[in-house]
Amino acid sequence: MPYHPHESRYETMEYRRCGRSGLKLPAISLGLWHNFGDSTRVDNSRALLRHAFDRGITHFDLANNYGPPPGSAEENFGRIMREDFHAYRDELVISTKAGYTMWDGPYGDWGSRKYLISSLDQSLKRMGLEYVDIFYHHRPDPETPLEETMRALDHVVRQGKALYAAISNYPADRAAEAIAILRDLGTPCLIHQPRYSLFERTPEQGLLNVLGEQGVGTIAFSPLAGGVLTDRYLQGVPDDSRAASGSRFLNSDQLTAEKMAKVERLQAIAVERGQKLAQMALAWVLRHQQVTSVLIGASKTAQIDDAVDMLTNQHFSEEELQRIEEALK
Ligand code: NDP
Repeated sequence: MPYHPHESRYETMEYRRCGRSGLKLPAISLGLWHNFGDSTRVDNSRALLRHAFDRGITHFDLANNYGPPPGSAEENFGRIMREDFHAYRDELVISTKAGYTMWDGPYGDWGSRKYLISSLDQSLKRMGLEYVDIFYHHRPDPETPLEETMRALDHVVRQGKALYAAISNYPADRAAEAIAILRDLGTPCLIHQPRYSLFERTPEQGLLNVLGEQGVGTIAFSPLAGGVLTDRYLQGVPDDSRAASGSRFLNSDQLTAEKMAKVERLQAIAVERGQKLAQMALAWVLRHQQVTSVLIGASKTAQIDDAVDMLTNQHFSEEELQRIEEALK
């Protein structure tokens, strides 16, 4: 069936300015790390993307290595883009990244100019796009001079293969250096993508301040800790969940009694707020004025609805924030 997006798609989403740039991002963005590779039925991936866009999610986040196998998320996205979203390219912000192992040999990993430029060319081919909106360096490279990596980002922006340059997983000090180099090159860093959630507070120890001072946006990845900060695992590990999927990033061993006790305490606060734990966890990340968008994953369209419906209940009282801190102890 041909896809016709909902006409009301821009009515409920909130769009937040990305740092001091001209670009606004939806408060909720959708990541394609899981559920878009070759092991997922393309019908489900398509339904997720359609539903997200119908609800005002204009930003889809990819990386060269998303799958499995690596590259397949970009390929499947490219197919859906061609079949469903072709007419809406200018309503979408599409990002990709390079920085983790992608192909064999010394040129398929880390942060050299050689790797970044060839990887972006490969990504564009897989997705069938002329350009991406945002191109990220996916993780800092301890060996390549930062200047070389940032020059490669500047280069692809000047070529028109990416509209904006960005970084991910950079600690505060390296981020500050990268931002300064990009500014000197004349291609400001648009956004940083760190892991940030109720369970991962590292960005509060300097990174968010750096980004605020420098006018760089923040998009928080894994804001639900891969699904742990939801009601998904309160009654055990469902067969269709990420923790049951054989993922090396989330498995039942990581759902320790200590962690689940925290989840239960948080769940009780969420219920009192009249929302699901997933919604409270997202609102909590978005409460930080430095955060532009929360980057969620989803296996079901109802999870996208939970995220978007959260927008009507985002406020926290001081007392609630205090109780959340207690629950996390
Ligand atoms: P989340 O923390 O949002 O976890 C998503 C998972 O949580 C879903 O797949 C689903 O799990 C579960 N879930 C989501 N909503 C609900 C809900 N309402 N109720 C119950 N369960 C829910 O994010 P991800 O870890 O998936 O990461 C999101 C994106 O961030 C990635 O796709 C990627 O784009 C980006 N990312 C970037 C990284 C980087 O290095 N830059 C690293 C990791 C991610 P289930 O499948 O069990 O249903």
